[in-house]
This record gives sequence, C-alpha cells and structure tokens, in this order.
Amino acid sequence: MAPIATAKGCAWKEPKPLNCDVCIIGAGPVGLLLGNLLGRRGVSAVIVEKQPKPYDLPRAVHFDGEAMRVFQAASLAEEVLPHTMVGRGMLFKDTNDTVVVDWSRDQNIGPMGWHESNRCHQPGIEDALRAGLDRFAHVQLIEGVAVTDIEQDETGVDVTLAGGRTVRAVYAVGADGANSFVRRRLGIGEDDLGFKEDWLVVDLILKRPRPDLGDYSVQFCDPVNSATYVRGVGDRRRWELRLPDDRAVDPNESEIWQRLSRWITPEDAELERSAVYTFRSCVAESWRKDRVFLVGDAAHQMPPFMGQGMCAGIRDVANLSWKLGQVLYGGEDVLWSYESEREPHIRQFIELTVSLGKLINQTAAGEAPKGKMKSIWPELGAGLGTRKGVGGALAPQPRIDGVLADDFAKQGFYVLASRAIESDLPMVVGAQDWLAEHGVEAVVVRPDGYVLEVVAV
Ligand SMILES: Cc1cc2nc3c(=O)[nH]c(=O)nc-3n(C[C@H](O)[C@H](O)[C@H](O)COP(=O)(O)OP(=O)(O)OC[C@H]3O[C@@H](n4cnc5c(N)ncnc54)[C@H](O)[C@@H]3O)c2cc1C
Repeated sequence: MAPIATAKGCAWKEPKPLNCDVCIIGAGPVGLLLGNLLGRRGVSAVIVEKQPKPYDLPRAVHFDGEAMRVFQAASLAEEVLPHTMVGRGMLFKDTNDTVVVDWSRDQNIGPMGWHESNRCHQPGIEDALRAGLDRFAHVQLIEGVAVTDIEQDETGVDVTLAGGRTVRAVYAVGADGANSFVRRRLGIGEDDLGFKEDWLVVDLILKRPRPDLGDYSVQFCDPVNSATYVRGVGDRRRWELRLPDDRAVDPNESEIWQRLSRWITPEDAELERSAVYTFRSCVAESWRKDRVFLVGDAAHQMPPFMGQGMCAGIRDVANLSWKLGQVLYGGEDVLWSYESEREPHIRQFIELTVSLGKLINQTAAGEAPKGKMKSIWPELGAGLGTRKGVGGALAPQPRIDGVLADDFAKQGFYVLASRAIESDLPMVVGAQDWLAEHGVEAVVVRPDGYVLEVVAV
C-alpha cells in the first residue's frame, strides 16, 4: 500500500498486520500464562494488553497444587516459587471465636508433585509470567493498546487494536477479565449464579512481628460484619471486609482502621492499598464462538472465599493450550472439548464457594455444625475419552528418579502404570496407591494432567 501521509524527510506507512497463530487479548495472569504455555509448544502468539503497566491492586493470594503443576508446564515453577509460601489452610470461626469449620492443608508435598495450598502475591506471579515471555521470540506482548474490534472468517481472526493496527491470527482468546470486551463483542451473555456482594479488600504490610495473628487464613462468620483474614507472603497481611449494601460512600482510611481495630492498628502495620470489589458468581453462556475462545474471568467469576478464581483460569489455559498446539500442528481437532470439559468443572467450584459465602455471611454463633472440610478435585465434564471410572479425573504426578512425571513425558501424553507394560507412549511407573484405589493398573495421562482413558492391561 502507498504511503498515506508524508512529511519532509519521512513517510508514514500503514503498518502491516501482525500475523500469528493465536492472538491473546489481555495480559492478566491467565493471558500471560497462556502465552508462556503456547510459547513452550512453539505456537506463535501476540498478547495485547490495554494497560501500559502491570495491574497493582490487591487480588489473588492463594493458588493450589494443580495450578503449580501448570506453572511447571510453562517451565516457570522456579520463578514462581519465590513469590509463594506453603499455605496452612483456612479456619471458619463464629462470632464467639469458635472454630466451626477446619480446612487445614497438608504441609507435605501433595499428589500434584507440589504443595496442595500456596499463598502468593499476585503482582509477583505476574512479574514471573511476564519475564517468562522473553524466552520466546515467537511470542510478542504489546502493552498500552486496547483491542477495539474482532472479526472472523473461515480461515482466521482479525483483531483490531486502538490506533487501527490489526493482528491476523488463526485463533483468538479473550483473557480480558470480568468485564470482557471479547465476550460482549461476541454477544455472549452470562449465567448469573446469584451471588453479588461488595467487599473492601485491604492489604497491609507489618511494621513489627504479629505471630498472634496466626498462619491460617480465617473466615469470621458473622451475619452483620463478616470478614476474612489472610496470612500473606512475608510481612503481607490482608483483610477482606463485607460492606453494607445500603452504604452511601465507601469507607475512608480512618474508617478502614476503625473496622480493623479488632485485629490490628496503624502502629503495627502500614496500609499498602485498598479497593472495593463486587464479588459475583457467574459463568459465560458460551466459551467459544468459532475461532474465538474465552478463558479466566472473561469466562467465569466467583467470590474469592476458596482462593480459586485465578486457579480456574489457570486450568482453562492448561486445557486449551495443548489442544490449540495439537490442532495448529495438523492433529485431530479436539478444540470442541474445551468448553464441555471445563464448564461443569468450574461450576462445582462456584457452587461450593457460594455455599461457603452463605456460611460466612449468615451464620450467627452456635448455628453452624462443626466439621472438617476437604479440598475438591472434580472430574472434567464430557469431552475426550470416556468418563467411566477414573476417566476425566486429575491424575497424581509422581517423580521418576527425581524428575516430575509431566516433565519426564515432555508435557505430552504418557502412561501412568503400577508396573511396566508395553506402550508406544512414555511410561511412568508409580502412583500405585492411587491406581489401586480406582481399581485400575494403568491410565493414559493427557498433557494437562487429566486421565484420557484407562489402559486395558
Ligand atoms: C479481592 C480478590 C481476591 C482474590 N483472591 C484470589 C485467590 O486467592 N486465588 C485465586 O485463584 N483467585 C483469586 N482472585 C481472583 C483472581 O484475581 C482473578 O480470577 C484473576 O486475576 C483473573 O485473571 P484474568 O487474567 O482472567 O483476568 P484479569 O486479571 O482481570 O486480566 C485481564 C486483563 O485484560 C486486560 N484487558 C481488558 N480489556 C482489554 C482490551 N479491550 N484490550 C486489551 N486488554 C484488555 C485488562 O487490562 C487486564 O490486564 C481474587 C480476586 C479478588 C478481586
């Protein structure tokens, strides 16, 4: 195309479209992780982020062992670990300070090959993910430019950036958060699962040790003033405080300290940042329109009571990334299974989170039955392979001579068996107890750690 504007000594040419396999809209933790996972698979990607610099407000403080396994798949576990500490678990207390539900976590390495619960600092995790992209010449991050339009045809997607530049990709992925432009542009509605509350989230940095606050996170169940305390990494501590629906204005700093005074004062800690969030529970009515997919908060949202929102997005991209890689390399089209596998899975987390929200907000002293809580590991919804027995379950990840099984199999398919059997796939012998518990001798494990099928031995 001819120059469209000239000035003495220079000619401004209309920029050529950027071509890539996958255009990712949004560089939150989910979009950044997807860029890394695709990068490792040799898939070219352009990530477009509207903010000029990383988002700095308080959000995720916890992720689970499965999420850590996905950071491992991106070859970033070592980079993520310094921003974490092993989680002790969560206690639910009533207004008499009596523990009504105990959700303690194992302090040893769990079945995923990592600790079951990890406290984290989200900006630190995002820094590690952002730096990870530098490893791939075929993955480009464009910051400070919003996506303003998306059009697709039979062979690809045109993603328009503010200023008019376009990215031409074979597929596009909306990782653009709760208020997703991509979701709205595709005309996809949300299934509202009924939870909507405003909470004030306050991040503090201790000025002096306060061991009495404890290492557990605590949900203070209270029909009037429910609150959450989170033991963060290092000197970081967080409180999440439910706000009245009928308030005229949000609390100012002195009102925040007033509400925190039961636990902490400005003498002990400095207020790093605070923000009001509306916690919602919803799922997009569809997670795909032809060549465009939704992941992370763009596809689903839940209150943070279980620390699972970001984890769910991490599972989305673990599921989608290997399928995109397979299709782009000319393999069988397995992309149809993304939504059908992930959607019923996330609903189980949202339903449990909402029921915990009710416990936190509606339980007066003496009302709640006492008990212990266990983590859930739902199976995938219908999709690849059968769902009989252990099909669709998350497989454990043993170590083979010190090497984690997924790495041993180079993040591809492998057989996990209680003894060596004949197979064309890489063979991992281990996890005998888990296999016996499910009454099988061998299973095929997919690149995202879930069981594809039972192997007849
Ligand atoms: C108080 C709080 C506590 C939480 N605690 C936890 C926890 O402990 N554990 C957990 O797992 N989860 C937790 N979560 C949830 C977690 O923070 C989110 O699920 C996670 O940040 C979602 O990541 P994302 O990448 O999908 O979206 P986001 O982080 O929202 O990123 C979306 C990105 O897209 C960009 N974008 C938007 N529109 C455009 C556009 N048109 N063009 C280009 N870019 C665009 C945005 O600027 C943004 O950077 C918590 C959330 C809150 C609010």
